[in-house]
Amino acid sequence: MNWNQMLQTMSYHLRGAKKNKIHTTEGPDMGAAFRKSGWNAKKPRTEPAHNGPIIWDPKNTLPGSLRVKPKQKLSTKSKKSQSKVKKNGHRKIKSEEVFPFSQLPSNCKLKILSYLGESDRGAAGQVCREWNILIKSSGIWDTINFTTFPLCTNPGKTHECSHECYQKYMTRVKNYMTYLGYIQPAMKKLQFDFDIGDKEDGWLTCLERFLMNCQGDKLLYARMNWKETPVKPFCVDGFAWSSREYNEMVHRHRHRQRDFIQFLELFVNVAPNVKQLMVPFDWSFRSIYLLSKLHQLETLILERYFVFHTLNQNALDELLRVMPKVRKLVLEVWCPSGRGLELYRMSSNSIETLDISQSRGFYLKSVNLPNMVSFRATRHPWNGPLVSPEHINLPCLYKVLVQGAPKLRQFNDLILTEDWRQSSCPKLEELLKTVCSCRNHKQGWSM
Ligand SMILES: [Zn+2]
Ligand SMILES: [Zn+2]
Repeated sequence: MNWNQMLQTMSYHLRGAKKNKIHTTEGPDMGAAFRKSGWNAKKPRTEPAHNGPIIWDPKNTLPGSLRVKPKQKLSTKSKKSQSKVKKNGHRKIKSEEVFPFSQLPSNCKLKILSYLGESDRGAAGQVCREWNILIKSSGIWDTINFTTFPLCTNPGKTHECSHECYQKYMTRVKNYMTYLGYIQPAMKKLQFDFDIGDKEDGWLTCLERFLMNCQGDKLLYARMNWKETPVKPFCVDGFAWSSREYNEMVHRHRHRQRDFIQFLELFVNVAPNVKQLMVPFDWSFRSIYLLSKLHQLETLILERYFVFHTLNQNALDELLRVMPKVRKLVLEVWCPSGRGLELYRMSSNSIETLDISQSRGFYLKSVNLPNMVSFRATRHPWNGPLVSPEHINLPCLYKVLVQGAPKLRQFNDLILTEDWRQSSCPKLEELLKTVCSCRNHKQGWSM
């Protein structure tokens, strides 16, 4: 029996569990968190795939048993025998019909169960007492992703999501967090999209409690969008129609930023071994200092937090100084272009990949990146007050790279020739005309 067949057979068990709902008394009931969630609601296959001679044997009373037999359709009689279910929800089991899953060593069972999505895990926990205990093993919860939790469980065609849907969504997610807190997952991957500044929703408290209950030292990858809850209906932030609204918005952003620093402090203490981090960043020196505690960090993706937020050279220098192991850096910063724009220097011995293609108004004056092999940049429309191009003299990216990136082999999707530093080839020239903002390569007003 191969993995596929086992998983297919298990999906039959799960289907039975969803119908029979075998309840156990130990620990919180995850099924309740998921029962109506529709989360990852892939329908389990109704019968195993007919690969080769091994097919579903309808004469077996134990769901999921597989036998070598020629292909045949399910007879009415056999369908009846499938429905012989004892009052307690268990079927009669003959010794020779025992599905080999039950004979596997525990670590193999856990490995198989780890392939299940969250909702199937909820159902698996209701198959029998043994599975209920297995499913609570912290080891199989290595990926925790809150971003795909649906807002609505069973939306009809005419349904429009309301505040009520969001309230129910919050209850479901928070129940799930509580359940996970009980399991103390050994998670390697974490993803969430929750506005920690929203006091009413209380995401900050929930996330903090959740983090404290996890075995965070196992965490290697984290994508933490703490600035917004995209699933929340009518979640519009970042626009202001009057000065009062603008002031309120700035006030809210500052509060959220303080919450972020508090959260980041907890995070770096709980999960010091993170290798990849993707996070909206506030560029405060406190936050940069906290990032420096992540000694294993190799990939750092810093997203834009707030439109009206600028980056100064000192903060950039400090970040590069305290991150001596980061090999891949992706920056999304929006700086006001136009008169008074700042040109940046970047210096790092560790960076091999630098991506500033999502940044706006972020122009490089010089780089000292001796190990950089890949560089990505894009020219975005002007980001600030209109100024005649004659007033702005931006350095040419080609010259910046020739001087400070001796090992560069790839620029956007272009693989560079060996002698790209001696003379710019036609393909590179073409690329520079689309991404470089110097007077030589740029025509017109767009920056
Ligand atoms: Zn809804
Ligand atoms: Zn140029």
